[in-house]
Amino acid sequence: MVKAENVHKYFGSLEVLKGVDLTVPSGGVSCVLGPSGSGKSTFLRCINHLEKLNAGRIMVDGELVGYRERGGKLHEMNERDIAKQRQSIGMVFQRFNLFPHMTVLDNVMEAPCRVKRESRAEVRDRALALLDRVGLAEKVENYPGQLSGGQQQRVAIARALAMRPKVMLFDEPTSALDPELVGEVLEVMKGLARDGMTMIVVTHEIGFAREVADEVVFMDGGVVVEKGRPDEVIANPQQERTKAFLSKVL
Ligand code: ATP
Ligand code: MG
Repeated sequence: MVKAENVHKYFGSLEVLKGVDLTVPSGGVSCVLGPSGSGKSTFLRCINHLEKLNAGRIMVDGELVGYRERGGKLHEMNERDIAKQRQSIGMVFQRFNLFPHMTVLDNVMEAPCRVKRESRAEVRDRALALLDRVGLAEKVENYPGQLSGGQQQRVAIARALAMRPKVMLFDEPTSALDPELVGEVLEVMKGLARDGMTMIVVTHEIGFAREVADEVVFMDGGVVVEKGRPDEVIANPQQERTKAFLSKVL
């Protein structure tokens, strides 16, 4: 479960997150919608502590992210502990950032072997199973440059899953793809959701949000303007800003 409470984030004097709250129960899927610059990516980056909070707190499975509480005060963790915590929070970006000089299989095996120092044989079996699950059993010995964008993004998903994350964060995972490749990536994400992965997905794919999300969150100007079940928020938005946004993207 992910719980963000009153998250504030400034860049200099610019307040980008103005008290964001979000709760995603274990196995739940939240889709975050909102216009460019509304703070969606910043919020995701706060969840794995790629950004420091200025106020508020984020918990993943009951554990405070990035900080320890001592004497009623929050103290930032050291880099090593933060890195360790991040291992359980998978993230997939718009750009896949695979290692170009490694095969698909090695890309997926890299972090568990090098960061977690798990046994190669075990990681290999797991990586092959994950690559099969994302439909890439045939491509394990290929290099990223030999794959389509949709295939590369599926490798990126398998790579994140190889760390056995408690939650998966997706930041517009399909928006850099050619339209005909979007579906195959969304299918993999739907499968993950069905299998009970806890997910937060920033996306402009309204159809996906409607079908898969347990909760849709509409952000604008650093605040959550509206949230609720997809049939409520997407089909029947209450706030003017949500209506205006949806009328542009639908
Ligand atoms: P998009 O849909 O375009 O991806 P977004 O909702 O993800 O937008 P963010 O990337 O979170 O928006 O940005 C929110 C605001 O914070 C923007 O005004 C952006 O310019 C600003 N911002 C983001 N990162 C930084 C940074 N590292 N330094 C300064 N300002 C930043
Ligand atoms: Mg963004």
